[in-house]
Amino acid sequence: MPEVLKAPLVVEFPFTRSLGPVQSAFLTGLRERVVLGVRTGDGRVLVPPVEYDPVTAEEIRDLVEVAPTGTVTTWAWNHEPRRGQPLTTPFAWALVRLDGADTALLHALDAPGPDAVHTGMRVRVRWAQERSGAITDIACFEPYAARQTDEAPTEPTVHTGEFADAVTGIVAHARLDYTYSPGRAQSAYIHALADRRMVGERCPSCRKVYVPPRGACPTCGQPTSEQVEVGPRGTVTTYCVVNIKAKNLDIEVPYVYAHIALDGADLALHGRIAGIPYDQVRMGLRVEAVWTEGARYPDHYRPTGEPDAEYDTYRELL
Ligand SMILES: [Zn+2]
Repeated sequence: MPEVLKAPLVVEFPFTRSLGPVQSAFLTGLRERVVLGVRTGDGRVLVPPVEYDPVTAEEIRDLVEVAPTGTVTTWAWNHEPRRGQPLTTPFAWALVRLDGADTALLHALDAPGPDAVHTGMRVRVRWAQERSGAITDIACFEPYAARQTDEAPTEPTVHTGEFADAVTGIVAHARLDYTYSPGRAQSAYIHALADRRMVGERCPSCRKVYVPPRGACPTCGQPTSEQVEVGPRGTVTTYCVVNIKAKNLDIEVPYVYAHIALDGADLALHGRIAGIPYDQVRMGLRVEAVWTEGARYPDHYRPTGEPDAEYDTYRELL
């Protein structure tokens, strides 16, 4: 039994969004240590604010300021904070209804342990030392031990939402960290690629050969185990011309990415086509895998010089 592979996989990208008037006021307010919500047509106060009434879909523009103190409406304990979370020590994720608001805001609650947290507990905002107009301007919530009698009833107050140097856009960094395992079938496929062989698996029921193999036939639901060597030549079944340069990918645009049905395979895989001008790539073009020195997988596919394949030979593989 060959080794089942696994490797770290990180998917990350910056997501740039403009805020619009309501979210701009909300985030700029946080920078100024002011928490803003919106008042809906029926008089409810929503914090965090939304731009459209969730009931009537009416546009909402009436901003109000609420208190930086509130009540936990529900919570869950986070035993192991992960990278990028608000606190580095264990904390509670809590929904906090700020005084003056009718809805609750999700944020971290800094507490010594789950025994120190309960629904109905009083909390207040702990502001971040450095604030830029982001939800992280609230560093977290913290328990707030003031006696009820000390607190005046909090009514939301009308706010213009106007601040100097308003924040109008944010960049949210999305990042997903995986340990990816391709499983038994694809591990065998990847091991074979390192020997410059392309090995698929045949379904015992419909006899189709899947490359790369997934371990089971998606049509019949049967496990596949019979290994079948395919390629290294194949036919372009369909393709696209790539005109946008990808970050960290050192390939000049435009180039062609194609679906390639390897000889003997009943499913097309995808690969880059090179060794031919991009505007001469066509359906039916015969290609073969090209391996660079020491590579564990084909770098690209190039034309073999054979006559193009007849459409009927690959029409079922599009
Ligand atoms: Zn099958």
